[in-house]
Amino acid sequence: MYHALDEQPSPIAIRPAVFAWQMRWLHEHGYRAIPLSRLVQCLHRNEPLPQRAVVITFDDGFESIYTAAFPILAEYGFAATVFLVTGYCGRQNDWPHQPLAIPCRPLLAWPQIRQLHEHGIEFGAHTITHPWLDRLAPADIEREVLASKAAIEDQLGHAVHVFAYPYGRYTPAVRAIVGRAFSGACSTRLGLVESGSDPLALERIEMLYLTQPMLFQWLAHPSFSFYLDLRRLARATAGTLLGRPWQ
Ligand SMILES: [Zn+2]
Repeated sequence: MYHALDEQPSPIAIRPAVFAWQMRWLHEHGYRAIPLSRLVQCLHRNEPLPQRAVVITFDDGFESIYTAAFPILAEYGFAATVFLVTGYCGRQNDWPHQPLAIPCRPLLAWPQIRQLHEHGIEFGAHTITHPWLDRLAPADIEREVLASKAAIEDQLGHAVHVFAYPYGRYTPAVRAIVGRAFSGACSTRLGLVESGSDPLALERIEMLYLTQPMLFQWLAHPSFSFYLDLRRLARATAGTLLGRPWQ
């Protein structure tokens, strides 16, 4: 789970040089990046998950995906999946509830989104206004979820199969509405997707935790899941203080 690439340090951005190093490392170690919808398809069909495969996701649809991330992804033929806040495309991430610590940066505009789509980048929905879905009335949840899907499909002329819950917040009611419209949805729950994973609550790894090369290389090691257990424990112990509430 990435958000933005930025030379300026920020709680949601990593430096382009770090991202470039990570992608090169994955490529050199025989990994390939597949679109999220491909992984979701495997889960639904009970197929074995592809070996040495990663899914690269970007939440919120920052313009830096176009300017900084895409050229790097293209170098290695890597797919990626980008979740758009459709009411804010071409604007900035200044939606309500955005914590003050998060700097405002430009978001992808539709012409850039169409261009990236033509070059194989997958787009998913991330609502219209990035709300706390768990606090909304059912009719408002439906509008945020379904209209964001429709907006992307109208712009791209292509079906949208995947969703990401803003701030990782969802309830059984939210999950049910998402499940009627999408085959897969990303949570912010720390972990690796495995054969038994819930396609509507997929685990992810916050890449801000892994900006150090040594930690990033650990991704490929069997003991990495032990590290995730420790991280989960730290999160549960410290509650939202250590959590990252802005996804
Ligand atoms: Zn988000």
